[in-house]
Amino acid sequence: MTDSIAERIAQIRAAIPPEVRLVAVTKTVSVEAIRLAYEAGVRDFGENRVQEAEAKQLQLQDLRDITWHLIGHLQSNKAATAIAHFDWLHSVDSWKLAQRLDRLAREQSRCPRICLQVKILPDPNKYGWTVPELLADLPQLNACESLNIQGLMTIPPQGLTETQTRSVFEKTRQLAAEIGAQNWSHIKMAELSMVCQGTYLLAVEAGATMIRPGQIIFGPRNI
Ligand SMILES: *Cc1c(COP(=O)(O)O)cnc(C)c1O
Repeated sequence: MTDSIAERIAQIRAAIPPEVRLVAVTKTVSVEAIRLAYEAGVRDFGENRVQEAEAKQLQLQDLRDITWHLIGHLQSNKAATAIAHFDWLHSVDSWKLAQRLDRLAREQSRCPRICLQVKILPDPNKYGWTVPELLADLPQLNACESLNIQGLMTIPPQGLTETQTRSVFEKTRQLAAEIGAQNWSHIKMAELSMVCQGTYLLAVEAGATMIRPGQIIFGPRNI
């Protein structure tokens, strides 16, 4: 890629509505590259490993207005650290994890904003609730008063056609609307965190409020 990080960010911003939150995914990306993205106006950064994020946050402490997003599967033994180090947890993917986060958030007097990760299509390689599981868990999720549930997150399975990917995104939006219409006191469905490689435009067209580009900003990841 010949464009700079700043140019690529400007291209994405120009292609999406201003209200869509651009979460730059910086797993394996250096703090120097993160600083370039920050200088280009990005304030939301996504990491998928708690330890990697902690190390980078330490080196970026001078950038005080960054919002950190956890986007990868969270192991239960890292849950307390994740609450302390992230503003958003996109990848809350089971009732067991939600319950644990609720208790730990209460202990830390925090109220993390979270998305519930849902699998619209069966996918043995991914974590997340299936639709019937999620619908069944809503009453107990609604009782998690230390979690600020904001919406849904989804990662389509790999290898789908564009039409299939679009259908996954649209079903996610419909599911959010369905849950939103149930008027839970403690579950908001205002946010849709959707993307997979190169499909951010599809996701935005289907109503994503947050997109998570990584390699299209920072170049290919080797690992
Ligand atoms: C890595 C990752 C992304 C970004 O993927 P790219 O291929 O770098 O664009 C988005 N969402 C999640 C959950 C990820 O783990």
